[in-house]
Amino acid sequence: SFELLEKFRDPDLCRKILDKMESELDRELRFMEVCGTHTVAIFQSGLRSLLPEKIVHLSGPGCPVCVTHESEVNAFLDLAGRGNVILATFGDLMRVPGDKGRNLKKAVADGARVKVVYSPFDTLKLAKENPGDLVVFIGVGFETTAPTIAATMKMARDQGIANLRILCFHKTVPTALDALLADEAINIDGFILPGHVSAIIGVKPYEFIAENYAKSAVVTGFEPLDILQSLNQMIEWRNQGEAHVANNYTRIVGENGNPKALEIMYEVFEPTDALWRGLGLIPGSGLEIRAEWESFDAKKEFGIEIKDGPSLPGCKCGDILKGIKQPDQCPLFGKACTPANPVGPCMVSTEGSCAAYYKYKLD
Ligand code: SF4
Repeated sequence: SFELLEKFRDPDLCRKILDKMESELDRELRFMEVCGTHTVAIFQSGLRSLLPEKIVHLSGPGCPVCVTHESEVNAFLDLAGRGNVILATFGDLMRVPGDKGRNLKKAVADGARVKVVYSPFDTLKLAKENPGDLVVFIGVGFETTAPTIAATMKMARDQGIANLRILCFHKTVPTALDALLADEAINIDGFILPGHVSAIIGVKPYEFIAENYAKSAVVTGFEPLDILQSLNQMIEWRNQGEAHVANNYTRIVGENGNPKALEIMYEVFEPTDALWRGLGLIPGSGLEIRAEWESFDAKKEFGIEIKDGPSLPGCKCGDILKGIKQPDQCPLFGKACTPANPVGPCMVSTEGSCAAYYKYKLD
């Protein structure tokens, strides 16, 4: 309720926690908020300018559009414009650039049939209305979207819809965090863990962060107090020489997540190796369609293979997603690259960190 939310924005309490953090910090600490919604929340609430200077906040690989690999973008751009294909996608992907400045918006101008949908379920109607075509849904995103797409596939099978395909580029969050922590060039003291993904997977899949790497991580909501409490908690643990994984968003996230959603997700998908923008190939970090469901698999249908290739010239999205660079350290930021003319995906998506920096820092 509104009253409850107000409690999570209480300015006096926020100030108290900020002062406490300030007094307890003896060196710079680097915290990564994994999810783009947190990046936006930290700016929107004004926290970004209130946090102690010793806290460096890094945006992580949790913006679905941003981590979609260059070759995955090129793969769906190659499908656009094929005679019998109607591509269905979330709106965010329309302006994501592939090689040679291509994007879906331009493909539409050139005659490709691309339909923006708000839910994967909308593709069922689209497929029914166009029986002579193949409707190909571009499945990007994490454990938050994958169960809905699995449910859509089950409904399509139940309804005898045979012309729906899924181009499955789904990725899973904990495996990416493992890859970041294993990389010695990357320096992260703790994670603000995503609220939405965790509502599906729960807290256990993150326990390796404390067990294997002695770093802390807290599942966190999106209000200022949620974020401050989590940061404060991680500073306290660090000062006590401890590392823990905890859930500070119990009003939404259960310890075991959403077992029903997980069940349907793994009924249809299985883990596979996946390429991430900036992070490269991470074993077991993607989801692919199981053999029993392969009649839905657009990769099989069109013989699509995803291989590593050159990244967008000049774009530093990869380093930003790894927490090595901040958006304003990219030479193109705010100059050649703006939300109106994005060079890379981190400037396209509303959850992208370059877009958030641009919107809230340059205003
Ligand atoms: Fe890429 Fe633009 Fe961000 Fe630079 S500012 S990293 S070019 S998206």
